Amino acid sequence: MESVLDDATQTAIRNAAAVLLRSRHTVVLAGAGMSKESGIPTFRGEGGIWTTQGEPPLNQYETFAADPKRWWERRLAEARAGNPFGASIEAAEPNDGHRALAELEGMGRLAHVISQNIDNLHRRAGQRSLTEIHGNRLWMRCVRCGTRWPREEFPVDEADLPPRCATPGCPGIVKGDTVMFGEPILPFALARCEAETGLADCFMTVGTSAVVYPAAAFPIEAARRGVPLIEVNPEETPLTALADIVVRAASGEALPALVAAIQEQQAAAHGEGTR
Ligand SMILES: [Zn+2]
Repeated sequence: MESVLDDATQTAIRNAAAVLLRSRHTVVLAGAGMSKESGIPTFRGEGGIWTTQGEPPLNQYETFAADPKRWWERRLAEARAGNPFGASIEAAEPNDGHRALAELEGMGRLAHVISQNIDNLHRRAGQRSLTEIHGNRLWMRCVRCGTRWPREEFPVDEADLPPRCATPGCPGIVKGDTVMFGEPILPFALARCEAETGLADCFMTVGTSAVVYPAAAFPIEAARRGVPLIEVNPEETPLTALADIVVRAASGEALPALVAAIQEQQAAAHGEGTR
């Protein structure tokens, strides 16, 4: 198959493969670019939902916490009216980039994925070591004890809003698992991301413009420690200047090529070792 990647990109991918082969704990930060390749509109940037429709209020979580019953009534009304973003997520399938990350994990070359995406596609592609730092749209969560349920396992009774936690003894209110504006990142998710970043000896960003904190802080923190930073993104980002290797391509093209390059280099090394 003729590669669509130009020579400079292929060289960058071979260099990235060599770094991943030398590393024991590679951590990936994945962003909206990966979801976009599965047909899910992005929030920011050209044509993004927020660019065309305006950003949601920054006090979303405050509004929810002040009157969760009203918030739930609005959410259910919106769902009845049809939500194009929700529909695009429900129709989306994992792409070659998601599958390649899961494959890298299976090969022992990728320790953890921190995803800013809420669409469940990493999990569906088979990623096991995963932190969804902004939650998962297909799940529900108790705001008090943090227990989560797949949405279909937690039916909402419209006559009894807001829904309450199903954990015995917990009086918490249940909301969608997606982290709202103004809502703190779950402490266990943040702790896991910090621990994985601390262990990283290679850090790769994929399809992220790296402007949303705290997620954007992880690659910066790793790079500051001298950990090799690989950027896979079609456009320049604020992280580009920090990156040791830049792969200017979509994840669905770059990551399968990265898997192939690692396999080639492994096979070559094995051939030399047995000669
Ligand atoms: Zn609870």
